[in-house]
Amino acid sequence: MFDADFFRRWMTATATSVDREAERLTALDSPIGDADHGSNLRRGFTAVTATLEKEAPDTPGGVLTLAGRQLISTVGGASGPLYGTLLRRTGKALGDASEVSAEQLAEALRAGVEAVMTLGGAAPGDKTMIDALVPAVDALGSGFAAARTAAEEGALATTPLQARKGRASYLGERSIGHQDPGATSAALLIAALAEAAG
Ligand code: ADP
Ligand code: MG
Ligand code: MG
Repeated sequence: MFDADFFRRWMTATATSVDREAERLTALDSPIGDADHGSNLRRGFTAVTATLEKEAPDTPGGVLTLAGRQLISTVGGASGPLYGTLLRRTGKALGDASEVSAEQLAEALRAGVEAVMTLGGAAPGDKTMIDALVPAVDALGSGFAAARTAAEEGALATTPLQARKGRASYLGERSIGHQDPGATSAALLIAALAEAAG
C-alpha cells in the first residue's frame, strides 16, 4: 500500500530530476518549441515541493491535487495545465483514502492520462507527453520498473514522428527528427515514481 508520504517522495524525486535535467529539457524544446520547457517545469516543481512541505496533506489524493493546482498556477506554458490536470485528476480518482493499492494507483493514473488527452486533444503518435504516459500506464500492471522503461522507450520513439499538437506542430514536417521535450519530462515523472517505490 502507498500512503501520502510515498506520494510526497514521488513529487520530491520528480522535482530533483526536473531540476537536474532542466537544461536538457529546454535544449529539446529549442529546435521544435520556444526553449522554455525545462525552466517551466523547474519553476512548477519547485513550487510543488515548497507547498507540500508547508501544507503537508495527509492523503495520497490530497498530495496530488495540491501538486496539480500548484503546477497550473505557476507554469505559464502548455505543460502546466496539462501536468496539472494529470496530477489533479489522478488525485481526485484516489479520493480521500489514507493508503492506496498499486491497482488503485494504476487505475487513477489512467484516469489522469485520459483527462490530459481530453484537455489537450492529443492521441498516441501525436508527438507529445501522451506518447510516454500511455505506454507507462499500460505497463504499470507489470510494476513500476516496467512503466519506467515503457515511458523512456515512448519518449525515444517520438523522434521520427511529426508533431500534431502543441507548438511543435507549427513546424509541420520540420518537427521530424527531434525528441519531444514533454514526452521526455513525462518519462522523468514516471522514473521518479519508480524511484519513490524504491
Ligand atoms: P509551451 O509549448 O507552451 O512552451 P512547454 O514547452 O512547457 O510549453 O511544453 C511543451 C510540451 O507540452 C510538448 O513537448 C508536448 O509534449 C506537450 N504538449 C503541448 N501541447 C500538448 C497537447 N495538446 N497535448 C499533450 N501534450 C502537449
Ligand atoms: Mg516551450
Ligand atoms: Mg512556452
